[in-house]
Amino acid sequence: MAAGVSTAAPGGESLAARGENSSCHYSDNEEEAMMIIRELTHNQCISLIEAKRVARLGCSLDGQPYVVTIFYAYAEGHAYAFTLPGRKLDIMRANPKVALLVEETGSGRSWKSAMAEGSFEELPDRIGHKTLRERAWTLLSKYSDWWEPGALKPELPPVTDQSPHTFFRIHIDRVTGREAIDVEEQP
Ligand SMILES: Cc1cc2nc3c(=O)[nH]c(=O)nc-3n(C[C@H](O)[C@H](O)[C@H](O)COP(=O)(O)OP(=O)(O)OC[C@H]3O[C@@H](n4cnc5c(N)ncnc54)[C@H](O)[C@@H]3O)c2cc1C
Repeated sequence: MAAGVSTAAPGGESLAARGENSSCHYSDNEEEAMMIIRELTHNQCISLIEAKRVARLGCSLDGQPYVVTIFYAYAEGHAYAFTLPGRKLDIMRANPKVALLVEETGSGRSWKSAMAEGSFEELPDRIGHKTLRERAWTLLSKYSDWWEPGALKPELPPVTDQSPHTFFRIHIDRVTGREAIDVEEQP
């Protein structure tokens, strides 16, 4: 399928950055349903991230990308999340630059996705971070099962005096988004 996506206005400025949608239509042939691909505005991206709770978290170390699924809750420019010790935490501590991808599928072949780029910030169980840890707890505990995937491991971590659970947040610096509209599915 010959699909192209227009992402920038003449002069190079992103239409999404200007709060407008750009779009591009494509189809295999005239008998096939048309698809419209367009950019989401900044506000549409934030709305999607705010509405969803599951994201793919991408991080990398020494040129090696690593992607895991996490639960998160969005508030005030940050995605709050929770983890046990493990590879993603080691990577993010060593290289705090991360990306989050959030997706939603609609009717037919329609979909929306928003990508956020930003920085990892650990919320340790120490004086000075109490308010933010409580904020993370409050946001995440709205969902009854949020702790389960992050709290389960094939092998339990060694028992220590301190809780191994780590709250963190992603400070979101940049968002982009696209959506595909299956014209045939529209009323
Ligand atoms: C819907 C959903 C929600 C989740 N929510 C959370 C969450 O909120 N917090 C959280 O910490 N985790 C969550 N998880 C689990 C998460 O995706 C990771 O599997 C888990 O956190 C372990 O990651 P780690 O980097 O600590 O791996 P480690 O435990 O350090 O794992 C070591 C190795 O195991 C492999 N591995 C780890 N996880 C997976 C996997 N899922 N699939 C294949 N190979 C794997 C990797 O090769 C890795 O190098 C969720 C998973 C799902 C499906």
